[in-house]
Amino acid sequence: MYYIGIDIGGTNLKAGLVSENGQIKATKKSPLRFENMEQMGEVLANMAVTLAEENGVSRDQVMSVGMGFPGPVDNKNGVVIKTVNIPIRSMPVAEMFHKYWDIPVYLGNDADCAALGEYYHYEDKSIESLLLVTLGTGIGTGIILNGKIHTGINGCAGEGGHIVIVHGGEECSCGRRGCWERYASANALIRQTLAAMDADKDSAMWGLVGGDLSRVDGRTAFEAKRKGDAAAKKVIEQYLCYLADGLANYVNIFQPAVIALGGGVSHERDEDLLLPLQDMVLEMCFGREADRHTRIVKAKLGNDAGIIGAALLGM
Ligand SMILES: [Zn+2]
Repeated sequence: MYYIGIDIGGTNLKAGLVSENGQIKATKKSPLRFENMEQMGEVLANMAVTLAEENGVSRDQVMSVGMGFPGPVDNKNGVVIKTVNIPIRSMPVAEMFHKYWDIPVYLGNDADCAALGEYYHYEDKSIESLLLVTLGTGIGTGIILNGKIHTGINGCAGEGGHIVIVHGGEECSCGRRGCWERYASANALIRQTLAAMDADKDSAMWGLVGGDLSRVDGRTAFEAKRKGDAAAKKVIEQYLCYLADGLANYVNIFQPAVIALGGGVSHERDEDLLLPLQDMVLEMCFGREADRHTRIVKAKLGNDAGIIGAALLGM
């Protein structure tokens, strides 16, 4: 038996055929194209049907189709409330899908699906809570509590990128100021790196990018810091403080067993990222003298987490 997971992004659809033990058997990717909202059911059903057929899996071998959308969903009623980059508002996706394939359909928020994927594949099966924090353009978070996605009353729980860590700080796209993602996302780290380079023309960071500011990325400051560059060291120390502040807020509220960090930044060496973070967060949290603490680890599934998690919605 198989489960299909579809990850709906602003520009692409990615679908995966997932086995009962949560492993991907095959994936399919296509650009997201639809003229009007009514076509969405057909587009998604086509994707699922073709994926199964191309891999020699008949329709009755598929148990369910799960979908992760970039926005809040009402899974109970099969409705996508709204999405960030696609013009979808109050769309009854499950009903639209059923016109083409009558199969159980489950909806989730994409960050929540990714968290579910990480939770399912975490090596210690005894844990019941996990927070996935993905550092990218912004910060995406997904909360697993008591083994289930915590969606909140309107599907918008787990928008951790928008907790305020600097009162009156930088303006955020959500309308508030000082949101965590303005300081601790990968994009924020790049901005902080550029500012430090601008202030210090002798920094080794200039050499690393060959003097070309468009080559600055989330690794630049980490790499220069390892070469002993003082400006880069300051950037990383400050960045880790921002990151630790938000993580400690989460730990003080619900003490997840595990925090998994995802996104490009999470691939930095443990001694530069996870180990200092673990110490800093512990230092800021209540119960630091207890013998059990939230473990901060690297997310395992990468880009497949969304597909696997969407498929798992039906398990
Ligand atoms: Zn915000």
